[in-house]
Amino acid sequence: MEDWVELGTASTSTEAHLIRILLAREGITLRIDGAALSGALGELPIEMMQIRLWVHPLQLGKAQRLLESRTDNLPIWFCRHCAEENPGEFSVCWHCGHEMPEL
Ligand SMILES: [Zn+2]
Repeated sequence: MEDWVELGTASTSTEAHLIRILLAREGITLRIDGAALSGALGELPIEMMQIRLWVHPLQLGKAQRLLESRTDNLPIWFCRHCAEENPGEFSVCWHCGHEMPEL
């Protein structure tokens, strides 16, 4: 088995998914513990659990830098198609793939 190191925690499954996508774009595999539960329960607002994020030790440094650079400089936006929240650096909705609405 490979070893994994904890990168941090996410407070919602949405945040965990966003981080996973962000890291995946840089070739980093993120393992998420705890997200399956809230995903399985669908729309119930029980996302108060802590979701733990794990990466491979060799990718930890890069992943940490990516998260640190994930600033709030760019405003979040909401998808017109599915109403999901997206970070500003995304040009398409992480959830449904729709493009960011033009201003
Ligand atoms: Zn969407």
